[in-house]
Amino acid sequence: MAADTIEERINRLHAQGIVDLHFDLLIDLYEKRNQPGELTSHFLPEFEAGDVGVMGVAIYVEDRYLPELGLRVALDQIARLYAEVEQTDRFAICKTFAEITRARAANKIALLVTMEGVEPLGEDLNLLRVFYELGVRMVGLTHARRNAAGSGGIFAPTGSPRDGLTAFGREVVRECERLGIIVDLAHINPRGFEEIIDLTTKPVIISHTNVRKFYDIERNINDEQIKAIGQRGGVIGINAILVSPNPEESTLDRYIDHIEHVIGLIGINGVAIGFDFCEYLFEQLPPGVREELATKLTTPHFIPDLTNHSHGRNLTRKLIERGFSDEDIEKILRGNWMRILEELL
Ligand SMILES: [Zn+2]
Repeated sequence: MAADTIEERINRLHAQGIVDLHFDLLIDLYEKRNQPGELTSHFLPEFEAGDVGVMGVAIYVEDRYLPELGLRVALDQIARLYAEVEQTDRFAICKTFAEITRARAANKIALLVTMEGVEPLGEDLNLLRVFYELGVRMVGLTHARRNAAGSGGIFAPTGSPRDGLTAFGREVVRECERLGIIVDLAHINPRGFEEIIDLTTKPVIISHTNVRKFYDIERNINDEQIKAIGQRGGVIGINAILVSPNPEESTLDRYIDHIEHVIGLIGINGVAIGFDFCEYLFEQLPPGVREELATKLTTPHFIPDLTNHSHGRNLTRKLIERGFSDEDIEKILRGNWMRILEELL
């Protein structure tokens, strides 16, 4: 009886679809460009099982393509997304909040194209306009590496480059605000973070990150940074792959500890989800590349019952068990991101 009640409650909380603003979908569609149909055959069942309503899908260019092929691979990733979406009536690539609302009303999954690291732009600001026209509506300047815009935070407690944004990086931020592209502070190093806060006037967001209280690396964010986001009416999406440096502490409960920590500092309106599910990508890597990645970045510890979108209900069940109200769960799963999208798109 009690279990039925919880499942019904999850159904109600998921009825309008959950919103996850960071998923590295486009790398996979690009790498499997010779196996069309991947979006419908592999990902759609997972998205449907987890009741995904809106998703940010990231352009990301791996080191091996840089610098020469950065632009080309990024354009090909977008092309693959459009081609895959055309195969089905279950998705819509959305450029405005009204398009997201329409897609949801038609029971389609709304996709927002995002960019993780501006390597595809080289140092040409004009290309940002081109990507905007192609649908890019959220941009994070860097991944963990340095590029023409700035430097990422490293996967260690100290030692990230101390310099902030370059002149080009500052131009990208200003142009994003002018065009209506959401600036994403995920990955940027601490100095770059401060500069983006100073340069921008609109609410600022972090699509996917974790709190340093539980995983103390400069890729994640400290309490001062959380408060800075809160003061600007922004939102922080909690990442599911860096919840703890210890595998045994990489649990759903620890994921929710990150949510509670943000709420404790800036309130319920400042937290959402940015799962960053990438176990499937990790598993596809040859062992040598996996080791190289572990040395350069870190070994992610995946949460066993939260590794892909089909596990979305596990999170909601755990939030209920931890005593969150329906109103608060709705904000975490959907409402806070929707507020930001309505305000900024
Ligand atoms: Zn990332």
